[in-house]
Amino acid sequence: MATGEIMGTTSIEPARLAWLSESTTHLEREMTATGGAAFGDRLSRGLRQIAAYWQAQDGDREVFEDFVRANFAGDQGSLDALFDRFQRLLEQLDGHMHEIGREFRQQADLDLGPILPLDEISAGYDPGAHIADDFFENKLAFIVLLNFPLTTLDQRITEGPKWTRRQWAEVRLAQRFSKRIPAAVQLGIAHAAAEADTYISQYNIWMHHVVSNTGERLFPPRLRLLSHWSLRDEIKASYEDRRNGLAKQRVIQQIMERIITQTIPHVVIDNPAVDWNPFTNEVSPSAVSDSEAPKTARNAISSEPESDRRYAMLLKTFHASRKADPYSPTAPTLMARRFDEDREIPEAQAQAMLERVVGAPLAARVGNLIQERLGRPLEPFDIWYNGFRQPSRYTEAQLDEIVSKRYPAPQSYQKDIPRLLLKLGFSAQRAQYLADHIVVDPARGAGHAMGAEMRTEKSHLRTRVDKTGMNYKSFNVAAHEMGHNVEQTLSLNDVDYHLLRGVPNTAFTEAFAFIFQGKDLHLLDMDVPDPQADALKALNAFWGTYEISGVALVDMAVWHWMYAHPEASPSELKNAVADIAKTIWNRYYARVFDRQDVLLLGVYSHMIDAFLYLPDYPIGHMIAHQIEEQMKKAKSIGREFERMAVMGRVTPDVWMKHATGSPVGPEALLSATEKALTQVSAEVLR
Ligand SMILES: [Zn+2]
Repeated sequence: MATGEIMGTTSIEPARLAWLSESTTHLEREMTATGGAAFGDRLSRGLRQIAAYWQAQDGDREVFEDFVRANFAGDQGSLDALFDRFQRLLEQLDGHMHEIGREFRQQADLDLGPILPLDEISAGYDPGAHIADDFFENKLAFIVLLNFPLTTLDQRITEGPKWTRRQWAEVRLAQRFSKRIPAAVQLGIAHAAAEADTYISQYNIWMHHVVSNTGERLFPPRLRLLSHWSLRDEIKASYEDRRNGLAKQRVIQQIMERIITQTIPHVVIDNPAVDWNPFTNEVSPSAVSDSEAPKTARNAISSEPESDRRYAMLLKTFHASRKADPYSPTAPTLMARRFDEDREIPEAQAQAMLERVVGAPLAARVGNLIQERLGRPLEPFDIWYNGFRQPSRYTEAQLDEIVSKRYPAPQSYQKDIPRLLLKLGFSAQRAQYLADHIVVDPARGAGHAMGAEMRTEKSHLRTRVDKTGMNYKSFNVAAHEMGHNVEQTLSLNDVDYHLLRGVPNTAFTEAFAFIFQGKDLHLLDMDVPDPQADALKALNAFWGTYEISGVALVDMAVWHWMYAHPEASPSELKNAVADIAKTIWNRYYARVFDRQDVLLLGVYSHMIDAFLYLPDYPIGHMIAHQIEEQMKKAKSIGREFERMAVMGRVTPDVWMKHATGSPVGPEALLSATEKALTQVSAEVLR
């Protein structure tokens, strides 16, 4: 491969050793004289790479030079030996660490009786947490950095398509050691994350105590909604409430705006002891009691606002993240680490993908359809409209009965896996092979999939089965998790290099899981072909992606603003978020909703506590749609699944071109929406 050089860093570097540059020049001259031109660029690249990470505690000049002479692989044979050793050892290390972690979580994850305090501590234990530090300390990381190429995302994108599989595996090997973030910096990030998470996870609104302008209590007693997820879901659920739905939705929008602008009275957060009118912002001692919460002292009850705490939390995550920048030379900002490393989609490309969705002319047509369906003009909260759904042919009770008869215990699901996979188009032999690599366990929660990291281990499907047998909801979740398990099995056992195991990012495994989940009625032999169903699904996916793409654009712009204004106060950040949210609304949503300056795109809680995570959602929708369309085109889930999953962890575009012929993008979703619009008239929807 071409030279894999580290791009110049844009931020303050950690203290560099004065002798390093002279020493690398000296070594390069000395070793080239003995090894000849055969070393080529490899030697200078390796020297540059380890010099970028070598610190005083790693040794003086003599230690450094001896280390390089002893560990540089001068010929292809030695390089192959290093590669093979690392690949084998890292599989053992990752595999067993993962196994230990799984065992330590066992009591917390599985339905195996009471959880003791020790189980909670052991569930939080991460045996692999110090491996990166250890590898720099014992210098295994330096052996990798001396011999294998560090790359930028730009190189992986422009040169990657021409690399051999082995070159890709070498790139992934080196990437493991592309950061040497000091423990104190990592701890700072973990603290900021934990603090923001606690702030968010206690941000409840007691809805019975929210009164409308006419003094009415629209929501039932005890209803406590977490911002913003449960508030948003209540907006969705209120479309079913013909009497009070619209009034409830307007109230919730008002609450959300108070949270964004931080004019929400401090005293109403997670407090059932006060009543609150979010329109006038009046607060009073609660006239009704629906909880055991103690009364709030009368003199503490006021409309005093929350005082920008929301934005102080976000700023803390920013300041903590920024401290890692100098130790991450190939991705020197949080934005670069998210886009270049985690997603491996350049930010500019991701932004263009999102803008193609929010700027799509068909948004207005879908908006009109919703308007007709609702029989009123759109209001801003209709970005969460969820009415593109087919009413179910079966009641939940009917489905529960069928499922519980089929699956009285986890073992009955385990036995049925080969048959289920056969129904999804895998061959009998491959279905059995996959089933042999999946272990079904009784889940304590709703269910999850836990893959393996070494080929002697199996994937675990955790599913919930009550005493009366499995219910339909659990079956639906189990289908989703089984999709993960099949992906995990194929991308571990059938990928040519262990260093390339997995998928490009989490959106890809979620896409596979959703495909299985969407086939749940087919797996129960209860599906009826319905041409409307596909169209409704596409419209639903489009509208959801349209909404969350705007939210993601806000998240991205806010992080850029923080980097451009590192000294900003919480109140300045608050004003910036409001400006950004309004600007993006006015650019892409105002024309559809006929309303200016709406703030709602700034309400997501994950914008505060999740370090630029929100773009994962819309990109995930696009990826899922591309994969699904390809499977429809090929008329086979099983065969296509196998063909796609063995590609392993290359960049998303390389993976997607192999899978579908096109790079990652919104075109599949947009064309499916276009087609759906011609199929579904408002008449049919009514
Ligand atoms: Zn999932």
